[in-house]
Amino acid sequence: MKRLRVLHFLGGAALAFLMATAARAQGTPPQMYTAANEGQPLSTRVVNYQIDARLDAAKKTIDATEWLTYKNLTGQPQQTFPFHLYLNAFQPKSTFMTEVHLYGTRGMNAGSEWDPKHYGAITITKFEVEGMGDLTDKMQFIQPDDGNKNDQTVMQVTLPKPIAPGASVQFRIAFHDVMPEVVERTGYKRDFFMVGQWFPKVGVWWHNAWNCHQFHATTEFFSDFGTYDVRVTVPQNEVVGAGGDLISTNDNADGTKSLVFHSEDVIDFSWTAYPHFIDVEDSWTGSAGTVKLHVLMSPGHMASAPRYIKVLKGAMTLFDRWYGPYPYDRLTVVDPPHGAEEAGGMEYPTLITAGTGPDLVTPKGLLTPEAVTEHEFGHQYWYAMVATNEFEDAWMDEGINSYTECKVMGALYGDKTSAADFPFAQMSDFSQHRLEYLAEPDTDPMTRFGWQYLNDSAYGGVSYGKTATVLLTLERIIGADKMQEAMHEYFMRYRFKHPAPEDFMNTIQEVAGQDLSWYFDQAFKGTQILDYEVSDITSDRADWYNESGAAAKHDSLKKAAPEYKDTVVVQRKGDFIAPVDLEVKFDDGSVAREHWDGKGRWIRYSYVKAAQIKSAEIDPEHKMWLDRDFYNDSQTANGDSRANRKIGNILLAVSEWFSQLLSYLT
Ligand SMILES: [Zn+2]
Repeated sequence: MKRLRVLHFLGGAALAFLMATAARAQGTPPQMYTAANEGQPLSTRVVNYQIDARLDAAKKTIDATEWLTYKNLTGQPQQTFPFHLYLNAFQPKSTFMTEVHLYGTRGMNAGSEWDPKHYGAITITKFEVEGMGDLTDKMQFIQPDDGNKNDQTVMQVTLPKPIAPGASVQFRIAFHDVMPEVVERTGYKRDFFMVGQWFPKVGVWWHNAWNCHQFHATTEFFSDFGTYDVRVTVPQNEVVGAGGDLISTNDNADGTKSLVFHSEDVIDFSWTAYPHFIDVEDSWTGSAGTVKLHVLMSPGHMASAPRYIKVLKGAMTLFDRWYGPYPYDRLTVVDPPHGAEEAGGMEYPTLITAGTGPDLVTPKGLLTPEAVTEHEFGHQYWYAMVATNEFEDAWMDEGINSYTECKVMGALYGDKTSAADFPFAQMSDFSQHRLEYLAEPDTDPMTRFGWQYLNDSAYGGVSYGKTATVLLTLERIIGADKMQEAMHEYFMRYRFKHPAPEDFMNTIQEVAGQDLSWYFDQAFKGTQILDYEVSDITSDRADWYNESGAAAKHDSLKKAAPEYKDTVVVQRKGDFIAPVDLEVKFDDGSVAREHWDGKGRWIRYSYVKAAQIKSAEIDPEHKMWLDRDFYNDSQTANGDSRANRKIGNILLAVSEWFSQLLSYLT
């Protein structure tokens, strides 16, 4: 939709007046819109954040005041409100850092040393509530997940009196951020700033309770929809990007400038500042109108700018066609500079961070910049609009997004070449996800809470790789057309909402028109291994007893033509039970097709005919991509070319490297 673009025009004169008269000092809310000129809501706007923030680029700190208006749509009085204070994760005794040290996270292995440069903090210096006064001393840190008293990533306040259902409450919160050197996608590097998860954010009332988890090593975020008006004051040499429309820019007498951004129907707001960004502008038009694209490139990376733009437009076109419209009028891509890679590969509403290397050493055949950009754009759908609980249901954002990444990258860059395309080695985006799955096929169910996985590797293998493989298999079970229809329905039904796992599964079942509980129970909610094997094929002469001629004296046992007793044995090697198709080919050109319910441990098929078995293959249509071992899916009579789907050895060797590189960035 282009509603904000229209608003810019209509609101121009009024804004100029407001900007001229608005006090510049911190402490005035940057509210630029009245209810009358905001766009028609796409979401239920529970929150309205107005934040006035000032960056100290030398000290790497931010001082800000936040006016949060919370509308109580919970249907009951609310007196206690929890807030996320994510930056407090970057302290040695926090739950986040404790888990990183024990189990690892993206970019930091288990056993990592504490590095003080990664220290980050958010301190609330004053907490006031409209009509109730200063409640700063009522704040208390809580640890709902693990009871770690040293964790200060969640704070709650109990008000002197409850907020009635349907009423609103306004919090006025003054806070001070100490930005870490980039860690976990936020922070600074030299004079580059990626400012994410940087302000006190209220929890979500969900399933009749407050949902406000501590920040964990492997978890992301969860928040309500609303509007954001944010004024950032930075040195005048900064190039600033943000997840909102730029409403105004004003130079201040003290050498700073103030930029005001506005954003509607989003769940978060992030921004970036860096004096050396080169803003590459473009636009894309989809079914909901024209979208302005800003690609903020770092010096030395300019060769990747057209690559970012090409994949972005390709992905936007396919998402628009397959799943539904992109309703915002802007999208900003941030290309972090050298050394700030840890800020890359991250999603925020209408702002994503990508990742590439220096121009001279980044080969075109390695499609990491494309895959990361596609992935983070995909999160605009699976996270920013379909706003699932990333703490609890990581597979619903990362996994569904990995599935659509495989689809989109395959469609744009070729089914076999969508991750790497070199003369000596090719790899698909899907193969890369399948390798992640194979590394961790059975540690945890997809439906496990994000911080309860065995470790970081299990979290990544299951919530990205396994989920993509599970959904690609599901697509082959119900049919590609049905799957696409179901995904479209799921998006349209749950955009601007907070669906739970059952909402996804029920939508798929409903559109597919079949009971898929057998699959959901094992693949989504279980840890069963899917692995069927053609364990034996034999072709025995039916007159085996007559090979020496001894039996020929009995006329009744003489045979004119040789006949064979052919057998195929299929075994279930894993504990995942799925129907099995079998195709048996004979040397006279005939073919037998069998269907087994897959429930027993093995089954034997026997044929008596004047032909020997040439080959036997289970899953001949290659539907069951969840099958752990493709090598044992087939056998041929000569014994040595067992697998029809062999992967080259060279590819296996390089795949490990690709896999690490890609998972690092996504
Ligand atoms: Zn992701």
